[in-house]
Amino acid sequence: MAILITGGAGYIGSHTCLELLNIGYEVVVVDNLSNSNKESLDRVDKITGKHIQFYNIDLLDRENLEAVFMENKIDAVIHFAGFKAVGESVELPLSYYQNNITGTIILCQVMQKYNVKKMVFSSSATVYSPTTSGAISEDSPLGATNPYGRTKLMIEEILRDLYVSDNSWSISLLRYFNPVGSHISGRIGEDPNGIPNNLTPYITQVAVGKLNQLRIFGDDYPTSDGTGVRDYIHVVDLAKGHLKAIDKVMIVTGVEAYNLGTGKGYSVLEMVHAFEQTSGKSIPYIIVDRRPGDVAVCYADSSKAKRELGWVAERGIEEMCADAWRWQLNNPNGYHDVEDKVIIGQGS
Ligand code: NAD
Ligand code: UDP
Repeated sequence: MAILITGGAGYIGSHTCLELLNIGYEVVVVDNLSNSNKESLDRVDKITGKHIQFYNIDLLDRENLEAVFMENKIDAVIHFAGFKAVGESVELPLSYYQNNITGTIILCQVMQKYNVKKMVFSSSATVYSPTTSGAISEDSPLGATNPYGRTKLMIEEILRDLYVSDNSWSISLLRYFNPVGSHISGRIGEDPNGIPNNLTPYITQVAVGKLNQLRIFGDDYPTSDGTGVRDYIHVVDLAKGHLKAIDKVMIVTGVEAYNLGTGKGYSVLEMVHAFEQTSGKSIPYIIVDRRPGDVAVCYADSSKAKRELGWVAERGIEEMCADAWRWQLNNPNGYHDVEDKVIIGQGS
C-alpha cells in the first residue's frame, strides 16, 4: 500500500516516513525542500534499509503533482506540507494563505481527479481559542489568532465542506500540541533555519554552544513557577499517531479532529531543568517580557484519540530531552553536517 507524504522531508514528515516504512508501507514523498533537506530522507532510507520515492515538487505545481498520481498507485495522503512560522505569517500573510491554502486545494483537486479520498491532515493546537483554560478537547472553542493558525482553521473547514459535498472522503484532522525530540538514532531531527523560534531547539542550541542564553518569555503567568506551560509530545509518538489515523481513514469515511498531546503540561523552567539533567549541561537564561500572543497554559485532552484511534503518547519528558540532545550533539549544524553518525545500538 502506498502513502503519499506531502512535506515528508520536514521534521515531523521524516519521522512519519520512517515509521510507515518500518511497518511495511510504500512511501512516496512530495516536498519542495523550502524548509528541509533531502538528506533527511536519505537518512531514513539508511536507517530503515528501505527506499522512499522522492519528488522535488511544489504543491502549487499542479501538472507535476498529477504526474506523481499517474506514476504511483496512491492509497492515501498524509498532508504535512506548509509554512509554519507564526511570526513570519504575520509579516507575510499572503504567502502563507497561498502556500498553505492554495496548496491544499490543489492537492485535494488532484486527489479527487485520481479518486484518492483518504487524507490525514497536519493541523495544530493553534486552532483553539486562546481564551480556553484547562485541558483542551476537540470541542473547545476555536479561534486562531494569527495568519498561520487561520490557515489551519480554514483548511479544516475546507476539508469538512469537501466531505459534505462527497461523503466518500475520509479525513483525519490531527491537532498537534508541541512536538519535540527526535528519533532515537540521533540521525534525523528538527533542523530549523536560522535562530529557532521554538523552545526546545533553542535550548539544545544553547547547550551545544551555538547560542549564548535562553530568553524565557515571562515569569509572571498564573502557573506554578510563573513561566508558560505547554504539552510537549515526542515526535515519534506523534508519527505513530499518523499510523493510527491512516488505519482509521482506510476503513471509515467522515471528517474527525483529534488532539495529539500527552495531556500533561510542563513549564518552561521545568523543561530547562529536565534538559539540564539529561544533558549534563547548564542552560543559562534570562527572563524577558512575555511574547505577544502567548497563552499561559495549553495542554491536550487526548482521550478522543485514545478512544477512537487507539493511540496514546508513550514517551516522557526525559526521553524527549535525551533524544533531542542526541540529535543536536551529533548534528550541531543539522543536516548541513556532512557526516551521518551511526550510534551503535540505536538503529530503527
Ligand atoms: P517542516 O517545515 O519541517 O515540514 C514542512 C515541509 O513542507 C518542509 O519539508 C517544506 O519544505 C515542505 N513544504 C512547504 N511548502 C511546500 C509546498 N508548497 N510544496 C511542497 N512542499 C512544501 O514542518 P514540521 O514541523 O514537520 O510540520 C509539519 C506540519 O505540521 C506543518 O503543516 C505544520 O504546520 C504542522 N504543525 C507543526 C507543528 C510544530 O511545532 N512543528 C505544530 C503543529 C502543526
Ligand atoms: N519560549 C521561551 N523562550 C523561547 C521560546 C519559547 O520562553 O525562546 C516559551 C514560550 O513563551 C512558550 C513555550 O516556551 O511558553 C513554548 O513555546 P514554543 O514557541 O516552543 O511553542 P508554542 O507553544 O508557542 O507553539
